Amino acid sequence: MSQQHQDLIDRDRKVTFHASSHLRDFAHGDAPGRVITGGQGITIRDKDGREFIDGFAGLYCVNIGYGRTEVAEAIYQQALELSYYHTYVGHSNEPQIALSEKIIELAGPGMSKVYYGLGGSDANETQLKLVRYYNNVLGRPQKKKVISRMRGYHGSGLATGSLTGLKAFHDQFDLPFEGILHTEAPFYYHRAAEQQGMSEREFSKHCAAKLEEMILAEGPETVAAFIGEPVLGTGGIVPPPEGYWEAIQAVLAKYDVLLIADEVVCGFGRIGADFGSHHYGIKPDLITVAKGLTSAYQPLSGVIVGDRVWKVLEQGTSEYGPIGHGWTYSGHALGCAAALANLAIIEREKLTENAAETGAYLQQAMADAFGDHPIVGDVRGVGMLAALEFSANPGKREHFDPALKVGPRIAAAALDENLIARAMPQGDILGFAPPLIATPAQVDEIVARARRAVDKVT
Ligand code: PLP
Repeated sequence: MSQQHQDLIDRDRKVTFHASSHLRDFAHGDAPGRVITGGQGITIRDKDGREFIDGFAGLYCVNIGYGRTEVAEAIYQQALELSYYHTYVGHSNEPQIALSEKIIELAGPGMSKVYYGLGGSDANETQLKLVRYYNNVLGRPQKKKVISRMRGYHGSGLATGSLTGLKAFHDQFDLPFEGILHTEAPFYYHRAAEQQGMSEREFSKHCAAKLEEMILAEGPETVAAFIGEPVLGTGGIVPPPEGYWEAIQAVLAKYDVLLIADEVVCGFGRIGADFGSHHYGIKPDLITVAKGLTSAYQPLSGVIVGDRVWKVLEQGTSEYGPIGHGWTYSGHALGCAAALANLAIIEREKLTENAAETGAYLQQAMADAFGDHPIVGDVRGVGMLAALEFSANPGKREHFDPALKVGPRIAAAALDENLIARAMPQGDILGFAPPLIATPAQVDEIVARARRAVDKVT
């Protein structure tokens, strides 16, 4: 590493608090740092000019790839025209209007309005408030509990961190909050050993039965909403077992429980459909979007409100006056301009279709390279989302001792191969989510580098 690069990292260690990191080790020089200075297409480069294939598109968000002049131009032009004005009490800006129209068109029938935030966490915070407001207006003040799933990821605020079903996001923060519950994760690979002999469909029914059991135990009159990612993301990149969403939705309908689809990862093409909900036949009442909405060229998130909820929100403001909710940066003109340019690229370059086609190629290439690898227990994914789960004994689905840190070691070995793949936060799982512009040849390169990394650690 060059002295210049090292100096920058040393300055960083003194003053920056990094997300999801070992604070002490980083601050004292015992954990590595890296300064990223540029990106083009599917690669990023660091201060020394070393290039990495970004096999995780940042944090599964840079879907159109790095260095897109068209988006930079759109942001620049918008900043010259109108950098910002608030969107409270009916004020708007042109990109916001056009973007809402586009999102509603993509989301499809039954979706009415879009409320904007800056990231997935604050959007889900809005969702939780809307769910409360909805039931209060309907005269059901006791119907407030929200059910999420173990291993679900919905953010890291107090309420959204409570929705998240990962231990590291709860411990020492006294979470989850009361009234936020976690039901069975639709993790067929993990649970198949315990639920011996169950088919995927049977396991889906089992998950739905567990959900129903929870609703009945709590009292259906107290359960307001269920939130889930179409494909479990940060919890391990786990596509749902066959029939899962159908079975879950039947239970929610039976007890009048709202469904929030957290499309922060799946939205805008990642799994080969505009929304994960379309792919799996999910009919949500509310949708959360972020990440792929702007491909991270600007921070922007959205809450898409369905007709059923919207009518009640309107009724509420007739009774109680203007809604007490708003962020300074909601509908930020630069974010909306970036999103419009990003969605135009996705449409013009058919990136959603590419995520389906090259995504199928990715799934096959992963299966070919790792299907019978001695330490790979599961190869799974959908579209441009894929994961390898490592196992001490794949036949028996035995986990490695966590102290061996197999997942992080393989991610580090991948980095030595100049490939970024993500060690997912719980379990020995390596995640892949390349930008949607990736070609089959680039997928081959990603898989070849990943194979070398896994072989090194084996
Ligand atoms: N929801 C899902 C499904 C996510 O994957 C994430 C982030 O990874 C979030 C919400 C939170 O988004 P943010 O980190 O932008 O707050």
